[in-house]
Amino acid sequence: LKIDEVKVFYLKVPKILDIGDGSQDMCLIQVRSGEHVGWGEAEGSPITCIASMYTPFSHSGCHPVIDSVLRMPINATSDIIHISELVRKNSFYGLLQSDITFSGVEIALWDLLGKIKGEPVWRMLGYKKSYPKLPYASVLFGETPADTFDKASKISKNGFAAVKFGWGPYGRGTAAEDGDHVHAARSGIGSDAHLLIDAGTVFGEDVDAAAARLPALESAGVLFFEEPFKATAFGAYDKLSKLSKKVRLAGGEGSHNPHQAFNLIDYGGVGFVQIDAGYVGGIHNSYRIAQYAESKNVQFVNHTFTSNLTLSSSLQGYVGLENHWLSEYPTELSSLASEITINHIVVNSDGYIQVPDAPGLGMQINEDTVRKYKVDVELTVGGKLLYETPSV
Ligand SMILES: [Mg+2]
Repeated sequence: LKIDEVKVFYLKVPKILDIGDGSQDMCLIQVRSGEHVGWGEAEGSPITCIASMYTPFSHSGCHPVIDSVLRMPINATSDIIHISELVRKNSFYGLLQSDITFSGVEIALWDLLGKIKGEPVWRMLGYKKSYPKLPYASVLFGETPADTFDKASKISKNGFAAVKFGWGPYGRGTAAEDGDHVHAARSGIGSDAHLLIDAGTVFGEDVDAAAARLPALESAGVLFFEEPFKATAFGAYDKLSKLSKKVRLAGGEGSHNPHQAFNLIDYGGVGFVQIDAGYVGGIHNSYRIAQYAESKNVQFVNHTFTSNLTLSSSLQGYVGLENHWLSEYPTELSSLASEITINHIVVNSDGYIQVPDAPGLGMQINEDTVRKYKVDVELTVGGKLLYETPSV
């Protein structure tokens, strides 16, 4: 079998707000081989992804991603890994978005191959069993501590045993104001639930500013402190990890290849590594990082802030690892991200989630949603049409 067709769609909600919510638009990718199709989502700005897919060849190491994908054989998992290596070799130089664009293609290829073989992706990766994960509701801080408290109480009533607050005003005012938000979150969710805090890289490389937040995090019993610094500021992560007695650091969502995540584990002192399959180069890279984390006693957690298609793809790489028990579970999805799949990964009566035991990613795409939210795009260079939005 060969990859006969690749379709890329730019989908968006009518009005995009300047908030830390990546579910407002989407670069959705469909791959087809014969009568089988697979779907994936790339976690980058959609138009830039389209450009890196179809851009004219610039020089060696700067080929459009499509050149390494179309008409390639797709019969075994080794074919996907081979295509991934080709993209790296052909597009790494000056085409940095290619890692992110290819993430969506790679996910779609696993979905496609799983459907061809009638196997869930996690089983094709070699896992015997898929373990349930404890989902943490992932939400943005409120504007004021009172708003944060209200959000926290609401989530707690919805039955989540773990909640993460992030972004919004955190790190933009004083350490005392941030402490008020953290304690408001703790009172809202109650003393039994796990509380996680995401600083959204707000401290840059400023170890002192981040360290000033530690006492409040410790007294509120926070399980992990996520992304205090820029993704590759490994030295700052390492220093803060040595200052933090109880709260472990988390990071890794900014990794767009496995080595960034390996370095964060080896040199950043993190206790949790968070990986987005739609950003890191796809499912196989997230699987490699999960295996590495397991060998280094670091907990792997998916990073997901968009559709259940991406949630399923980000879970596949570690569902077979029983001790890695947490999962990020977006609860404030845009209408686009919630409507794009017909089925959803829902929290069961025990408060856990599981990936579908179905071929591929086990998610059904709603083609009416693609039609409803798609925005027409054309890429024309020197009068030659390189890309136009395909039909659904
Ligand atoms: Mg984050």
